[in-house]
Amino acid sequence: MKKLLAAAALALMIQPALAEDAAPKWSLAIHGGAGTLDPAQMTPDKRVAYESALQAALDAGAKVLKDGGEAIDAVKAAIVILEDSPLFNAGKGAVFTWDGTNELDAAIMDGRDRSAGAVAGVKTVKNPILLADTVRTQSEHVFLIGKGAEEFALSKGFPVTPPEYFATEARREALERLKAEKLSALDVDHKFGTVGAVALDQKGNLAAGTSTGGMTGKRWGRVGDAPVIGAGTYADNRSCAVSATGWGEYFIRVGVAHEICARLRGIREFNTLTADSSGVAVLEPEEAEYTADSVMADVAALGGDGGVILVTPEGHAIFSFNTTGMYRGRATSAGVNEVAIFGGEVGAGAKGTPNH
Ligand code: ASP
Repeated sequence: MKKLLAAAALALMIQPALAEDAAPKWSLAIHGGAGTLDPAQMTPDKRVAYESALQAALDAGAKVLKDGGEAIDAVKAAIVILEDSPLFNAGKGAVFTWDGTNELDAAIMDGRDRSAGAVAGVKTVKNPILLADTVRTQSEHVFLIGKGAEEFALSKGFPVTPPEYFATEARREALERLKAEKLSALDVDHKFGTVGAVALDQKGNLAAGTSTGGMTGKRWGRVGDAPVIGAGTYADNRSCAVSATGWGEYFIRVGVAHEICARLRGIREFNTLTADSSGVAVLEPEEAEYTADSVMADVAALGGDGGVILVTPEGHAIFSFNTTGMYRGRATSAGVNEVAIFGGEVGAGAKGTPNH
């Protein structure tokens, strides 16, 4: 105990110097959903379409960070592009509810003050992530749903987007197939197309955001993990920023995003307390990777699947998923710039390949 206290005092003494010495860096990771992705089904054209959408989102977010902008703005810049693409289950291209509507959920969180905003069951807002951020910055609340969220949107000057804007033929067919063949959402969707982004900016602030249409055939006002702060989305400068995609019910039960952040916060605190005099109190990428994989294993143990992306204050951009693939990308000030789809490609995380 004495040793720990001495280490704590020492760590407190060396911390400011370390902060000053740290080179400015930034880091960004994005996802467009995890799931049962089959390479045989992926035509070259399809692959190009997905990769270019991911790359466009990555570039938009990376530009904000490179130019010295804020993590929260990088997250929004990346997510808006994915919401506007019909390829992903967010904004345009969202899945259909049982009643044949598109109901959108989104959340965003700023790791610097843990301010958060979320919306669920919204039908007429083109970019739900921007509405979630307006809840964060211009309301005294964190989470607004349905009609109330739409009234709030109107009061803040969001135009009303006609519901037809969100509808795509492929998603409508998926609903019809689900009903006709009595399938589950997983059977028809094969993948979770939720989108998300996590970022570290040059000032050391973290942010996370997630946007989704939920799962095909959802009813009774079902809301998944994406807009639930701590389940699908969480950011805390002391630990990490996380965005999830997967079978939302399981992610809510595990509290995935907060669980990862809480564990990493403990590890970072411990490393800080026990750093030796030369010691830089940091988090190793393997520690972040292990933590994400182990929380995802917890989801799998309950019967759920999906994946997460995270960025740490050190700039590690990590993926972890227990599905065959996850649409994903990452870019950092160290020159990393990559997008990938299947397990075994870059940053496959839980699949056992290098992840950082
Ligand atoms: N997590 C989302 C939900 O359960 C689905 C997804 O990731 O696509 O609503």
